[in-house]
Amino acid sequence: MTFQIDKNGFYGEFGGAFVPEMLFGNVEELQNRYLSIMEEADFQKEFQALLKDYVGRPSPLYFAKRLSKKYQAKIYLKREDLNHTGAHKINNTIGQILLAMRLGKTRIIAETGAGQHGVATATVCALMGMECIVYMGEVDIARQAPNVSRMRMLGAKVVPALSGSRTLKDATNEAIRDWIANPVNTHYIIGSVVGPHPYPDMVARFQSVISEEMKWQLKEQTGSENPDMIIACVGGGSNAAGAYYHYLDETSTRLVAVEAAGLGIHSGHSAATSVLGSKGIIHGQRTILMQTDDGQIVEPYSISAGLDYPGIGPMHAHLIDKGRAEVVNATDQEALDAAFELTRLEGIIPALETAHAFAALPKLKYNPRDVIVINLSGRGDKDLATYVKHLPDGE
Ligand SMILES: *Cc1c(COP(=O)(O)O)cnc(C)c1O
Repeated sequence: MTFQIDKNGFYGEFGGAFVPEMLFGNVEELQNRYLSIMEEADFQKEFQALLKDYVGRPSPLYFAKRLSKKYQAKIYLKREDLNHTGAHKINNTIGQILLAMRLGKTRIIAETGAGQHGVATATVCALMGMECIVYMGEVDIARQAPNVSRMRMLGAKVVPALSGSRTLKDATNEAIRDWIANPVNTHYIIGSVVGPHPYPDMVARFQSVISEEMKWQLKEQTGSENPDMIIACVGGGSNAAGAYYHYLDETSTRLVAVEAAGLGIHSGHSAATSVLGSKGIIHGQRTILMQTDDGQIVEPYSISAGLDYPGIGPMHAHLIDKGRAEVVNATDQEALDAAFELTRLEGIIPALETAHAFAALPKLKYNPRDVIVINLSGRGDKDLATYVKHLPDGE
């Protein structure tokens, strides 16, 4: 048995490509070409060189001594926060723009909620001199002003989505409309392991550099390639997919997925997709999503904008369904507490998304000799305003 994708683009019963007929051509072109392009020597050479000299890889694997003492285990942090632009998302956007260039595309579109994926996309478009259009809900544009400024400085055109709740799902609809209207010259860069096949697998492969490095870094530092546990936060699931990738079939390594429980799983303000969700189709894939009885998407909530996706990628739906991955939930408050704890113990301010992964530590059972890797998906500069509002008492 393998937990990898099958040749039809499914992880068990999840995944596939459920798209309107007008998108068949675009999606089919990607399905037919992504693997052969990614395997080309010239592609690999350019991708690896940019990961090294532009992104700054390999990202360090850091033994967190004071955190380890507190939680009585050997805790290592995979430092994706040290990447150029401050998170793991750049691994994927570099891969996809190189692919787009080989497909002869000249124009890039993307959608973004918090703006992190928009910034990572605008960055690689500047790097390659490509036209870049980022769709963003009007509400998010107002909420995420610093990232909008970054995208504009990088030369991207930020187009407001004015329909519906004017947030991420409306921006996604606008991006799909654009792609249908511009099928020949445009590539759509999706920012997580979501969407129609091949996106979940393609993004997972670009992010798999995370676990590829973890293997030799762990070998060097602990004598074994395999940790006992890997913990990652899950929005759509790309940083988790990257951290799990080379361990999917290594069942002695526990995989822990941490979802955002917002104000509480059953508070009505949550993004605990795997607990609250049910099987259905969203954004071209069959997966688990939060929906009403008649199939309307339920608007997710989390203090961290990067975790409030109403579904999870099909790989994670499958891993959770089969019991390969364990799910832990962390509320806004638990994530804030974990962020302050990490900052005071290790001098590292994590992204709010990442803080959820750390909030799992007190909720898990393990042995003192266990090696635990936490994927530190991003840094907290973008979240400082939120952190300052919640500083521990009297400070
Ligand atoms: C976007 C983001 C996430 C959530 O996205 P995934 O695809 O689930 O990884 C997590 N952490 C950081 C720092 C992010 O920017």
